[in-house]
Amino acid sequence: MTTEICKIDAFSLERAKKIIESGGAVAFPTETVYGLGANAFSTEAVNGIFTIKGRPNNNPLIVHVHRDYDISALVDEIPDYAKKLAKAYLPGPLTMVYKSKGKVSPSVSCGLDTLAVRVPSHEGAQRFLRCVGLPIAAPSANISKHVSPTSAEHVLGDLNGRIELILDGGKCEGGIESTVLDCTGEVPVILRSGLVTRQMIANVAGDCGVYTYIKGERARSPGLMYKHYSPNCETALFSEGELEKALSRYDERAKAGKRVVIICGTEAVRLLGERQNIPLGKTPSEMAKNLYSALREAEKQFDVAIALVPENDGGIMEGVINRLSKACAGEE
Ligand code: AMP
Ligand code: MG
Repeated sequence: MTTEICKIDAFSLERAKKIIESGGAVAFPTETVYGLGANAFSTEAVNGIFTIKGRPNNNPLIVHVHRDYDISALVDEIPDYAKKLAKAYLPGPLTMVYKSKGKVSPSVSCGLDTLAVRVPSHEGAQRFLRCVGLPIAAPSANISKHVSPTSAEHVLGDLNGRIELILDGGKCEGGIESTVLDCTGEVPVILRSGLVTRQMIANVAGDCGVYTYIKGERARSPGLMYKHYSPNCETALFSEGELEKALSRYDERAKAGKRVVIICGTEAVRLLGERQNIPLGKTPSEMAKNLYSALREAEKQFDVAIALVPENDGGIMEGVINRLSKACAGEE
């Protein structure tokens, strides 16, 4: 199969619609990362996504809908706080988990009785979802466990020959995956941090919990169990307070003949001397936006990537550090 990258226009959207209707998968841009979408009503189409990505079949998918789609067709028991959050932050990088009505294929939620729903704000994603007119189950458009794609070229790098069409909407503005929020309880609980922060949620909902996965437990969000977002090179993660340790690791790996790079905030570059670096930007938002392209650049040109990050301030840095901890985790 040849994979084509196409700008989003009436012609490519019509082609995308045909592929989706015939049970295939299409990569499309969102404001977070690129997604790999298929018809959420079709078990065969949804299973195709797991095969294409090599995704474990117990890691559920998020259903994407356009802004005027009535989600009460798919889910039950939408609490008042969720309605307020939807009004404040949707369309946008917030995925909300509800009790499922069981209308989409059971493969989407991998047997859970809940369904994760997202309304992306990216104009290209909206056009695609509206044109297709179906709820689209979509994980990130990368090979399972690899770094998520934030450009059409990243998708091609991972899925060349495995899908027909990549809709090209340019570089993703957000850069890390959506916040996943459990809306099945009294108060919302963050299952995965992202650009819609705990503070933003608490401001609207009055309260917001955070779920922490404990290794060995059955995770409330199965995706949390896996090593994820990982470049194909050796990795290490240090906070800026551990600068000396990060620099000694660099020097030690370089001495062993490895090509080493430090991925860090732009402000930290001056602390590195002559050492190789990939700057992520100054603000947490910039760092989120550039994180995955930096990891992909690191794996192409270096043997060892050392991430050096600011302290966790609980805002967007929470999401950046969460992704880097997974990317730098040992094999799981
Ligand atoms: P990805 O699309 O690859 O970013 O992964 C989707 C994320 O959403 C994973 O971390 C899943 O575990 C999580 N997710 C999807 N559906 C559910 C659900 N019904 N309940 C809890 N988490 C979910
Ligand atoms: Mg993913």
